[in-house]
Amino acid sequence: MNRWSNMRPAVLAGLFGVVLAVTAGGPLAASDDTPSMSPTSPLTAPAETVQSQPTPLVGTAALPLTGLVIALDPGHNGGNAAHAARIARRVFVGNGWKACNTVGTSTRRGYPEHRFTFAVALRVKARLEALGATVRLTRQTDNGVGPCVDVRGRFGARVSADVTISIHADGSALSHRGFVVMKPGRVPRYTTDILARSSRLATAMRAGLLDAGLPIANYYAANGIVSRTDLGTLNMSDVPVVMVELGNMKNAGDATRMSGAVGRDRYAAGLVAGIRRYLGR
Ligand SMILES: [Zn+2]
Repeated sequence: MNRWSNMRPAVLAGLFGVVLAVTAGGPLAASDDTPSMSPTSPLTAPAETVQSQPTPLVGTAALPLTGLVIALDPGHNGGNAAHAARIARRVFVGNGWKACNTVGTSTRRGYPEHRFTFAVALRVKARLEALGATVRLTRQTDNGVGPCVDVRGRFGARVSADVTISIHADGSALSHRGFVVMKPGRVPRYTTDILARSSRLATAMRAGLLDAGLPIANYYAANGIVSRTDLGTLNMSDVPVVMVELGNMKNAGDATRMSGAVGRDRYAAGLVAGIRRYLGR
């Protein structure tokens, strides 16, 4: 008889859970931005306490987001700057033509938007997966080129997502700060089918970001939400979508929050809270 065989099933399940938790932390452990699930994290938001508690392995059906697919679109990409011609190519966005992609902005100390959006997306992904969701990203690394905005927009339908969240940061005047949620405006034959649901998503996302203690923009949009018809990522989506400018990278306060792991985790907590509010889970 080996020492496992006389253990009760609940004990074995508990051990198995520990092994799973350690394994799940593996692939991201090499990142400089490893999402922290520690219950002792100083910025643990109310929504996070759900997943920070030890989860008894009673089957994945017990998790709140099981069966849901979330598409995340980390804005821009690390290779864009070195491939100006490729990202300048024009693509059709439903009501006109736009550049395939852009380089994005950066903090005044040089922390680039593409790195910020990718780091936040990984944190959102980890949090959503801990809640049982399937998460798909429009790009898998931060050193590639593109994809183009039309591809980013179509991505949600391609992976059968319930919702798409596009993650960005703004580059505005120094005194400007706070987040803006951008929702699709009416583009005939393109966005009419997702207008109402995306509008609900925008309202839920604003509430989620406020849950995390993040400030609404003091310079743009009415009360944190604006409708846009000029963004390919929104126009080309066939699932409910919002694009979030999480803050202004040129503002000292926003830049400090964005440049640290604790601050990025707070943005991730807000995005997840918004998604959960929209899904009612
Ligand atoms: Zn951007």
